[in-house]
Amino acid sequence: MVIAIDGPAGSGKGTVTELLAKDLNFTKIDTGAMYRAITWEVIQKKVSLENIEKIKEILCDSKIEFQKESVFLNQREITNEIRTKEVSNLVSQVSHIPEVRNAMVELQRKMGKNANVIMEGRDIGTNVFPNAEVKIYLDASPEERARRRYEQNLEKGISTTYEEVLENVKFRDYNDKTSNVGPLKIAEDAVIVDSTNLTIEEVVETIKKIVEKKVKKENAKC
Ligand code: C5P
Repeated sequence: MVIAIDGPAGSGKGTVTELLAKDLNFTKIDTGAMYRAITWEVIQKKVSLENIEKIKEILCDSKIEFQKESVFLNQREITNEIRTKEVSNLVSQVSHIPEVRNAMVELQRKMGKNANVIMEGRDIGTNVFPNAEVKIYLDASPEERARRRYEQNLEKGISTTYEEVLENVKFRDYNDKTSNVGPLKIAEDAVIVDSTNLTIEEVVETIKKIVEKKVKKENAKC
């Protein structure tokens, strides 16, 4: 079974996916981490983004794997390395390269074949798995997503103002929704879960109920 979790940046997809995967005993696949892993390798090898031949070589030679919370590229753990500012600043451009996108989508489909996976991203239910058994569009108001990110920044000692974060959230929303590759869209058959006024636990419970209902429906068909 494939559970697709799409939604805008800061909607809580990562945390919710992690908790759900543990609860349901599904494999969690963070598709953003895959784009980050390729970006990290591009930086390591000092490859220009115009050099498509070299990028294709990187794609062929890169084996991305997940083990619990860790991400590996060619057996080297890069869980923390892919979260650096350098990677964050370049990942959007790398993820726009059609060759990169095609390779990642193919790999994501392979990972979801004959497996119980919960995959989060922005194009999973619309493009990667249009036939996913469960599709969730996890949303929250821009103000609430900015508030969450602002508090996370405070905890990490990153100094920003709430207004700056809100502006950034709105900017990312615009870019994600108008992107010409894998834009953020709500799949026609997705269930929209608005987490603005819900705790993480309430969101997880809501999605678990949607999954249970789907499983019951599938079983009733037999
Ligand atoms: O979710 P995260 O911020 O780690 O994703 C990193 C970047 O990877 C996103 O900003 C986006 O540019 C790209 N991405 C994508 N399609 C996905 C997941 C992530 O283009 N399904």
